Amino acid sequence: MSVTANSVWKNCLVFIKDNIQPQAFKTWFEPIKPVKLSENALSIQVPSKFFYEWLEEHYVKLLKVALTKELGESAKLVYIIRMENTYGNKEPFTEKIPSSNRGAMAAQEMDVPIKSKNPELRNPFVIPGIRNIKIESQLNPNYNFDNFLEGDSNRLARSAGMAVANKPGGTSFNPLLVFGGVGLGKTHLAHAIGVEIKDKYPERTVLYISAEKFTQQYIESVKKNTRNDFIHFYQLIDVLIIDDVQFLSGKSGTQDVFFHIFNHLHQNGKQVILTSDKAPVDMQDIEQRLLSRFKWGLSAELQSPDYETRISILKNKLYRDGVEIPDDIIEYVAKHIKTNIRELEGAIISLIAQSTLNKREVTIELAQQVVEKFVKNTKREVSIDYIQKVVSDYFEMDVATLQSKTRKRHIVQARQLAMFFAKKFTKASLASIGSQIGKRDHATVLHACKTVDNLAETDKQFRKYIDDLTKKFS
Ligand code: ADP
Ligand code: MG
Repeated sequence: MSVTANSVWKNCLVFIKDNIQPQAFKTWFEPIKPVKLSENALSIQVPSKFFYEWLEEHYVKLLKVALTKELGESAKLVYIIRMENTYGNKEPFTEKIPSSNRGAMAAQEMDVPIKSKNPELRNPFVIPGIRNIKIESQLNPNYNFDNFLEGDSNRLARSAGMAVANKPGGTSFNPLLVFGGVGLGKTHLAHAIGVEIKDKYPERTVLYISAEKFTQQYIESVKKNTRNDFIHFYQLIDVLIIDDVQFLSGKSGTQDVFFHIFNHLHQNGKQVILTSDKAPVDMQDIEQRLLSRFKWGLSAELQSPDYETRISILKNKLYRDGVEIPDDIIEYVAKHIKTNIRELEGAIISLIAQSTLNKREVTIELAQQVVEKFVKNTKREVSIDYIQKVVSDYFEMDVATLQSKTRKRHIVQARQLAMFFAKKFTKASLASIGSQIGKRDHATVLHACKTVDNLAETDKQFRKYIDDLTKKFS
């Protein structure tokens, strides 16, 4: 008997039926139609995008096992989605989406040396008291290299990431520090490296963590008197990925503990991957000895994507979502949203939502409305660096002067204004504002804010400074 899409699918169903609840089988598998078999790729038709997502999220492993039994290791699954028309087509259109074939990341077992001096070694990720060290990698399998598109803006960082993933701990890129502005793909790339390492070296223990969470865990460990356990836990990791290390700025205790962990890992040939919103030279309030470690390996920048890359990122996103949008509209979006990939994706998602929910045709006019709203609504977050720059420009001095120790009245006022605006427009603490504006303490910042408030009431000229500057920030 020859093998057909029907016969393959029939056998798969027998296997699947044996392995899931009858109700789930009825809901999620009976409506599927096998459509085509070419070489080892089976195409199946599903009734909606949601259906496809559900299958991918809950049954991808099962599908994979079933299909591999039928078609061998290189079996592939392609979904064909029968969609409601999204932009004025009379016919519903279909779209093909490849199965990601990625299940959730499996938990990693780790051998804790039996002779360990810490039989009570605590894993900061689990409830205290649980002895078994099972480490979730915290990796998001949806952030992988396949969907991290290459362009001039990210080529160096991407290929360094690949190199590290091929030989974790075995390249001179240790640590690998990826830096760049908001929404340019640092987190995505960091996960992709981890995901790739788990694919290639399943036995290695990989851990992704944000610097913020790392800090919280550390503080917690100090409170509970388990600082040593905390350090030992991290020293057992093979590939440590810490996202947004600029968060460690000003936190000397956490920096200190990270310094020890880093040294241990590095000496033992373990890989460290870091991301940051600034290059090491521009990082403030990070201890010198830590900064010099950051520079040991490679610092690779993610820059704003060029037009071609923006187009391919958009097209890829649409392809993966199974949605079609005319080229001129994609080009319009790519032309108007330039600096931030997250915003780029956000705009296209709201465009899709507008068109599907409101059943509106995707036209250039609709795209204009969405883009306009989008650009307006995503006010840039103002940074303390930026505030200092704007205030110094306004008073025609340079930032170093603004930060200097002088007591000259107009410089003091400029500095106080910078502190005042930093308090107003950022979420930074008084201590962090102080340390970034000329290394002052939190009391100085508090005093500055009060002084500015007072002068705003009593001094007309000063009131004008505030109004002028406020306009520049909004
Ligand atoms: P960051 O951590 O630098 O703020 P993210 O990694 O969160 O940025 O990326 C923002 C969004 O842009 C994510 O949805 C990510 O998947 C997407 N993105 C970034 N770079 C790329 C790329 N090169 N190809 C495809 N998508 C990308
Ligand atoms: Mg990020």
